[in-house]
Amino acid sequence: MPFPLIDLHCDTATELFRTKQSLTENRLAVSLRGASVFPSYLQVMAFFTAPELSDEDGWERFLSVRADLLRDPAVTEGRAKCLTALGEELPLVSLLFSIEDARIFAGRIERVEEAYALGIRILTPLWSGVTCIGGSHNTAEGLTDFGKSVIRKALELGMIPDISHASVRSADEIFAMAEESNLPVIASHSNAAAVCPVSRNLDDRQIEKILSSGGIIGLNLYVKFLAQKNNVTSKDVIPHIEHFLSLGASDALCLGCDMDGAELPNDLQTVGELQILAEQLLSRNYPETLVRKIFYENAKSFLRRNLPL
Ligand SMILES: [Zn+2]
Repeated sequence: MPFPLIDLHCDTATELFRTKQSLTENRLAVSLRGASVFPSYLQVMAFFTAPELSDEDGWERFLSVRADLLRDPAVTEGRAKCLTALGEELPLVSLLFSIEDARIFAGRIERVEEAYALGIRILTPLWSGVTCIGGSHNTAEGLTDFGKSVIRKALELGMIPDISHASVRSADEIFAMAEESNLPVIASHSNAAAVCPVSRNLDDRQIEKILSSGGIIGLNLYVKFLAQKNNVTSKDVIPHIEHFLSLGASDALCLGCDMDGAELPNDLQTVGELQILAEQLLSRNYPETLVRKIFYENAKSFLRRNLPL
């Protein structure tokens, strides 16, 4: 019996827009047909802006990709519900929106509120390099003044800050600001640097900070963030899970698979194949309750706490 599923990050909306396909059935990793093996499914849809677009064009692209998704038959026919808050019962299939790479706010603070009004509930402010928001994982820079006001506004509105892609310094500044407001910080799609030492993964100090803030962490299936070798498979996710659990993350560990935005393990090419990961864990004697937490319960209780109806 497969578990219900919540995935904290995919780039499917952008890919659907780019390739003019629909959510229900497509040639991408994430489709509703693929996810139909799960009794309940919530997908966080990230609106990601292609790096070749300017900040300003990126904002227009975000509006277009979002409008395109809202016109998808799965949404218009009510088969996938777009959520901005969570109640006790989740719909069979639901979508929650995030922005990845908030440089598209382009120095205009009012866009944080506009994004909130357009249903954005998770904000991944950085992606790569130094932007109007601040330094990403591949830089040593922190947040700009504008970046700080964006985070402040996001926290005030109840948008959840996400340090995936942030530099160490930017992440520290986000932690400090969230702590002042007594709010959690998440990493929607990052692994453990102790297992795979790349700048996109989290060091132990960051993991502990997320845990003590009450945040959650989504395991990323991008092969290069899982292991530094060829032929990465679902088995290579296990050492990351082990490491997170050793730091006390059993109530915080989730999935943030990065599907349709990253090269995936050979045996985890589509959302439906996440069942293989569940089977791997069960065959290693992980308790069913723990697997269910990673696949669903941890994200559900976090989102219900922080995005209440
Ligand atoms: Zn990403």
